[in-house]
Amino acid sequence: MPTSLPPAPRVLGIAIPSPLRRLFDYRPCREGPPDGWLPGLRVRVPFGRRQVVGVVMACRESSELPLAELKPVSACLDSLPLPEDWLWLCRFTARYYQHSLGDTLQQAMPVLLRQGRPLEARTRERWRVTPAGRGEAPPAVARAPRQAELLAMLCQHPHGLGSQAVLAQSFTREQLRALADKGLVERLEEPRTARWQGDPDHLLAEPALPLNREQAVALAALHEHLDAYHPCLLEGVTGSGKTEVYLQLIEAVVGRGRQALVLVPEIGLTPQTLARFRQRFRVPVVALHSGLTDHERLDAWEAAASGRAPIVIGTRSAIFTPLASPGAIIVDEEHDGSYKQQDGLRYHARDLAVARAHRHGIPVLLGSATPSLESLARARSGDWRHLHLTRRASRHPPARLELVDLRGRPRQGGLIPPVIEAVRETLAAGHQVLVFINRRGFAPTLACHACGWLAECDHCDARMTLHRQPPLLACHHCDRRRALPDACPECGSIDLRPLGSGTERTEETLAALFPEVPVHRIDRDSTRRRDAFERVLGEVHRGEPCLLVGTQMLAKGHHLPHVTLVVVVNADAGLYASDFRALEQSAQLLVQVAGRAGRAAHPGRVLVQTLHGDDPHLRLLAERGYAALAERLLEERRAAGLPPFRFLALLRLESPREEAVAALAGRAAGALRGWLAERELPVDCLGPVPAPMERRQNRYHLQLMLASERRSHLHEAGAWLTGWLEATPEARRTRWSLDIDPQTL
Ligand code: ADP
Ligand code: ZN
Ligand code: ZN
Repeated sequence: MPTSLPPAPRVLGIAIPSPLRRLFDYRPCREGPPDGWLPGLRVRVPFGRRQVVGVVMACRESSELPLAELKPVSACLDSLPLPEDWLWLCRFTARYYQHSLGDTLQQAMPVLLRQGRPLEARTRERWRVTPAGRGEAPPAVARAPRQAELLAMLCQHPHGLGSQAVLAQSFTREQLRALADKGLVERLEEPRTARWQGDPDHLLAEPALPLNREQAVALAALHEHLDAYHPCLLEGVTGSGKTEVYLQLIEAVVGRGRQALVLVPEIGLTPQTLARFRQRFRVPVVALHSGLTDHERLDAWEAAASGRAPIVIGTRSAIFTPLASPGAIIVDEEHDGSYKQQDGLRYHARDLAVARAHRHGIPVLLGSATPSLESLARARSGDWRHLHLTRRASRHPPARLELVDLRGRPRQGGLIPPVIEAVRETLAAGHQVLVFINRRGFAPTLACHACGWLAECDHCDARMTLHRQPPLLACHHCDRRRALPDACPECGSIDLRPLGSGTERTEETLAALFPEVPVHRIDRDSTRRRDAFERVLGEVHRGEPCLLVGTQMLAKGHHLPHVTLVVVVNADAGLYASDFRALEQSAQLLVQVAGRAGRAAHPGRVLVQTLHGDDPHLRLLAERGYAALAERLLEERRAAGLPPFRFLALLRLESPREEAVAALAGRAAGALRGWLAERELPVDCLGPVPAPMERRQNRYHLQLMLASERRSHLHEAGAWLTGWLEATPEARRTRWSLDIDPQTL
């Protein structure tokens, strides 16, 4: 029976990609969507002098403006609204982070949808390699190099690839058809809404490992509440088998026909990690990483939104993947800093994961060897379940940190003689050594020994790092580069010397000391080429003795079974930073680095060089471990009224004009304090103060901190403040943003 559509609403409230925190009213266009106007439809609208893609968020009968003044929508781009759960998440995110909804929607969408590309067709065409097409290039394509390339590409997608993704790589339909005619690929047509039909008997491609006692207890706890919001913190030392627990939770979830979303840190989504998930399951595992083309990304988005992909794994932004039938969310290394976006929409993917799980009524599992103090506090209070894995699957317990006093000792490439001796012994025993130094480049700076001049950036309050490969001075904050001076610009002396050590210098020293073994440097400079890192890891996995010198890129997520000695060149840099989270974060990093040692057959050793061997926090970490330090830090945070015992929001202001930004910050603080006093709202307003690096890229940065015991109070104050700034003309010439739950100050 044909049903008639409801009459079109008179006004559409549309979220537009703009920083303004409001909807914009338009009139519907004559040609509406087939099922009528609904929230979640993308539209093209005139905005200023441009046409932009917006999203309908409200259908109304009236506007604050006279109807005749409203412009009509130019076109409706969708026949069906964007997924409901995704719209909810965007609304929640915009509200929580006090960010414009239009901008939030835009950022949460794949690029092609932002550009207005249709999401139409309810069936789609996919191309998949047949058994005959797998393996070595078959003779049938020997004379057709493009077809051979296309076949090779399709071989990398065993579950097939959508036509759009294929055509986007500049292959043609003719080439696809030719391969199909030769029986090497097949064309599949499937409804877009095809969901993965859970068939528990054919889920696994390899058997799950029998769990040890602690793993079994953890998994049983998770099994108890598969149909309810159930936040769990899985605290387990590196190598204790957290990933195995994730895999078996996913097995349970997918076996019931639901989807699992797995978040991993930015450096964590390695081919190794992905291979582990793909080896275990027979079902498609969709990976969202920075290497995808726009078409592949849209393909993955649709696969998740339609339910075709039962397992979705990705980094921070993957939290915005729509799911047709969500079953569980897993956040690996939940403490990792990369989950927080540091510009624009400053969301925290872990916190959104928890909010999303709550909304869906599903379990959320947060795993870490070194949980954030936020998560620990919630687990201790009983809000979240606290699960523990204390034993490693390999027999060796995680290595203890041995503190090595640097004071008064000569250094070579940052290393002191007894440490160099330990490196020598480890290599002689046929093992590998990892040297961790959180500073890329040759040396942190260049100094004049005659007058004390230091190479400083003209645009930032920072020193320039000395690089040797190629030789230059570079600012790591604004990326400005300068040629090496021949003489001191202040006094003309030619006695210029590198000050301190970076990865390049340590690499050079070690290569000179141990010419018989290879030295691999892993940092952002040495791995600019995409495959460089993988190549080194491949070599390291062969197990020959070697030296690895690297930054935190090496410290996280990699299984390095032959490393038995880890050296931390300098533990102090992070410990004494001004940020209140510095201690927590450097302890997490130290434990993570230490976790690289002795993961397989041999026990490990971790030597931590420091100038502050008697620092009570460092000693506590070395002697009693992360949990003990975390306990102490929580006490200190409580006493200081800092997170997780109070909530923070940070207003950041920046401008090339120092006086202008200071004047605006001062006025904003004054206005806010007046308003808070009038409302008697218990929110502290601290500052304005200069940001830790006040001048960056020739812009002056100031900040104002809001703190409160109640989130709702903090949000009220934040909303008032952003409203005030939007209404204040001077604020238009200053860039400002409000950072809710800031991770760094
Ligand atoms: P984590 O994620 O906590 O670092 P993993 O899950 O990667 O730990 O496990 C570390 C190693 O131990 C892996 O090689 C894994 O295959 C192995 N492992 C994990 N659980 C078990 C188990 N129950 N039995 C045997 N080996 C296991
Ligand atoms: Zn000088
Ligand atoms: Zn700079």
